[in-house]
Amino acid sequence: MRVYLDNNATTRMDSEVLEAMMPFLTEEYGNAFSLHLFGRETGKAVLDSRIKIAQLLGVKPEEIIFTGSGTESDNIAIRGVAKAYRNRGNHIITSMIEHPAVKNTFKDLEQDGYEVSFIPVDKNGVVDLKELEKLIRPETILISVMHANNEVGTIQPIKEISEIAKSKKVLLHVDAVQSVGKIPVLPKELGADLLTFSAHKFYGPKGIGALYIRQGVRVAKVITGGGQERKLRPGTLNTPAVVGMAKALEIACKSCDEDIRREEELRDYFEKQILEKVPEVVINAKETKRLPGTSSVTFKYIEGESMLLSLSYSGIAVSSGSACSSDELQPSHVLLAMGIPHELAHGTLRFSLGKYNTKEEIDYTIEQVTKIVEKLRALSPLWNEIKK
Ligand SMILES: *Cc1c(COP(=O)(O)O)cnc(C)c1O
Repeated sequence: MRVYLDNNATTRMDSEVLEAMMPFLTEEYGNAFSLHLFGRETGKAVLDSRIKIAQLLGVKPEEIIFTGSGTESDNIAIRGVAKAYRNRGNHIITSMIEHPAVKNTFKDLEQDGYEVSFIPVDKNGVVDLKELEKLIRPETILISVMHANNEVGTIQPIKEISEIAKSKKVLLHVDAVQSVGKIPVLPKELGADLLTFSAHKFYGPKGIGALYIRQGVRVAKVITGGGQERKLRPGTLNTPAVVGMAKALEIACKSCDEDIRREEELRDYFEKQILEKVPEVVINAKETKRLPGTSSVTFKYIEGESMLLSLSYSGIAVSSGSACSSDELQPSHVLLAMGIPHELAHGTLRFSLGKYNTKEEIDYTIEQVTKIVEKLRALSPLWNEIKK
C-alpha cells in the first residue's frame, strides 16, 4: 500500500484542475500580455481567473498579483514593504515559527541593516500578543505572521494581531500558504494588508503563487523587468498555472466544510489510536486551534529520521520538521520555539492528511507506526534501560 501523508509539503493535483489547464498547455499558448488575438484569448483567461480568485477571497481583482510560488510572494511582500517604507523606519517583526520563506527573508534583511525582532510562542505554537505589543516601536514598519503553521498546524490569532498592528500604524503581512484552500480565509476580515498563498498546497499546480496587496499599501519592486503584475512580478505569466490556481481554489471553497469534517475525523481517529497503542507519545499543539489534517507526533526515545525511512519502506510518506530543512538534520526551529527539548524534537514526525486519504490508509498507518516504534525502541539502549 502507498499512503501519502505529506499534504502540507504538496498535494496531488485535482484532475478537474488539469482539465481546466489543458487548453492553455496546448492550443491557447499566446502571451497574455500580447495585444493580438492570441494574447487577448489568454489575457481574458488570466483576467477571469483573477476575478474568480478575488471573489472567493472577498477582495478586488486589482489587489491580487500572480507570482511563481509562495516563497516568491513572501519575498516580494516583505522585501517590497521593507524597501518602500524604509524612510519611515527600519524595524521589522516576525514570529519564531515562520516557514523558511519568511524566516530567511528576515535574516537576509537583517544583514542589509534592518532591525529584526522575533515574537516568541507558547507551548502550542501560538504567538504571544503581549510580547508583540512590547516589541513594536516608532520605527516598526512591518509585522509578518503566518496564518497556519506548516509543521504543527497551529492557527494564529491574526485578527488580534492586525488590531495591534493597526493601532500602531504598522503593516501586517500574513503567510497564508497553509490556510488558503484548507480553511476559510478572508484577508479583509483577518485584517491583513498583504497575504501570501500558493496553489500546490490546495490541489493546484506547482510553480504558481499569489499575493494579495490591500489597495493603498505601497510595495517597492524587488524584481525588475517588464510591466506584468503591476511591475511587481515581471516575466511572462504562467497562464495554464493561473487558470489551474483559480480552478483549484474554486473546488477547495466548494468542498471546504466537507473536507474539514473528513480530515478532522480521520486525524482525530489517528491520534486517538496512536495514543492508545503506542506508549510514550505526545501530540503537539493539541490544545489550540489547528489545521484539520495536521498531526505532529513526538515519539520518545526514537530518532525521527529512522522512523521516517522505515515508514517510507512500508509505503507511507510523512515528514520530519519541514521539507525545506529535512536535509539539514537540525531539529525544527518551530518545535524548539514551542519549548520542546532537542531530543524530543528529533523524535517528532508530521502526518499531514488531505482530501484523498481514506480510513483504510489511516488504519494501515496506525498498524505500521505501532510495529516500527516497537522495533526501533527494542534497538534503543536508552529505552531498554528505562524499561528495566
Ligand atoms: C509551502 C509553504 C511556503 C512556500 O510555498 P511554495 O509555493 O512551495 O514556495 C511558504 N509558507 C508556508 C507556510 C508553506 O507551507
